[in-house]
Amino acid sequence: MKTAIFSTKSYDRKFLEAANTKYHHELIFFEPRLTIDTSALAVGFPCVCVFINDLLDDGTLQILASGGTKLIATRSAGFNHIDLNGAAGLGMTVVRVPAYSPYAVAEHTVGLILTLNRKIHRAYNRVREGNFALDGLMGFDLYNRTVGIIGTGKIGLIVAQILKGFGCHLLAYDLYPNPEAEALGMKYVDLLELFTNSDIISLHCPLTPQTYHLIDEAALSLMKSGVMLINTSRGALIDTKVVIDGLKSRKIGYLGLDVYEQESELFFEDLSDEVIEDDVFQRLLTFPNVLITGHQAFFTEDAIANIADTTLSNITDFELGRVSGNEVRAKVDS
Ligand code: NAD
Repeated sequence: MKTAIFSTKSYDRKFLEAANTKYHHELIFFEPRLTIDTSALAVGFPCVCVFINDLLDDGTLQILASGGTKLIATRSAGFNHIDLNGAAGLGMTVVRVPAYSPYAVAEHTVGLILTLNRKIHRAYNRVREGNFALDGLMGFDLYNRTVGIIGTGKIGLIVAQILKGFGCHLLAYDLYPNPEAEALGMKYVDLLELFTNSDIISLHCPLTPQTYHLIDEAALSLMKSGVMLINTSRGALIDTKVVIDGLKSRKIGYLGLDVYEQESELFFEDLSDEVIEDDVFQRLLTFPNVLITGHQAFFTEDAIANIADTTLSNITDFELGRVSGNEVRAKVDS
C-alpha cells in the first residue's frame, strides 16, 4: 500500500525498510512532523503512518481525507495525538502498535528510579572531574520501600514484577484491576491511599480526559514529603508547574521524566545549538534531583523492530480487508 511515513528518523527508515522485505508496501519517507502545515505532503497516499508528536487534529484529518487517506497507522501504543472521533467521522481507520516491548519502557522506568535514588547521573560527572567525594550522593534501599503504580496494564505490571525483585511493597491503582498484578501481591487501593503511602509513585496509565493533570496540587498535597515521582507515560498526566512548586518546597524529593507536556516542541530533535524558549522546561533542568530523558523509554532495538513489523502488518491487514485487532476507535479507554 502506498504509505507516507512522517517524522522519519534514520532508525525508523532502517527498521521499516528491513521489515518491508516481508510486506512489500510502497513506503515514502518524510522527515517533517505531520501537522496541518505539512499535511499537503500526504495528499494521494491511502495510508499515512505517524508517530506521537504528529498532530492529527480536525484540520489535518480533513486534508488527509480529501487527499484520499483511508488508513492512519501510528507507530505507537498511545493515540492521544489523533482525533479519533474526527477520523471516524471522515471514514478513516486508525491502527496502532498496542505492544511492542513493554519491557523496554518498564526497564527504562526502573533505570530512572535507580539513577535518581543513587544519584548516578551526578556521580558520573563527579568521577570524570576527579571528584570522589560522597557528600550529596546518599541514596536509600529500595528494599522495603512502598511503590505506588498507577495503571497496571502491560508496562505497569512489568515495572511491578521488576520492583518485586528489589523487595518493594507494591500498591496499585487502575480502573480495571489486573489479576496478574494481584497474583504478584500488588494491593489495589484508591488514589488517596496510593498517594498517601507511597515512597515512589510511577505513572503507567494512558492520557485521557480523566487522567489529564492527574498529578495536580490536590494529589501532591497528599504525598509523602520527599516522594519520588516517575512519569514515563505521557507528559500531561502531570501539571508541570505544580510539580515545580513541589520541587521548590522539597515535597518532591526526586522527579524522573521521560515525557513532558510540551515535548512536541523539543523532543526527538538536536537543539543543542538553539535557544530553548520553554521556561518551564528550563526550570526543571535546574534541579539536581530531576532527571529527564527525551521520550526514549521505548527505544530498544527489540521495540523498534517490533514497531516496524506490527505497523506494516497492520497496513497489510487493512489492505486485505482483515481485522488486525489493532484498530482504535473513539471512546476506547486505553
Ligand atoms: P496498557 O493499555 O497495557 O495499560 C494501561 C493501563 O492503564 C490499563 O490497565 C488501563 O486500565 C489503565 N487506565 C486507563 N485509564 C486509567 C485511569 N483513569 N486511571 C488509572 N488507570 C487507568 O498500556 P501500556 O502498554 O502499559 O502503556 C501505558 C502508557 O505508557 C501508554 O498509555 C503510553 O502513554 C505510555 N508509553 C510510553 C512510552 C515511552 O516511550 N515513554 C512507550 C509506550 C507507552
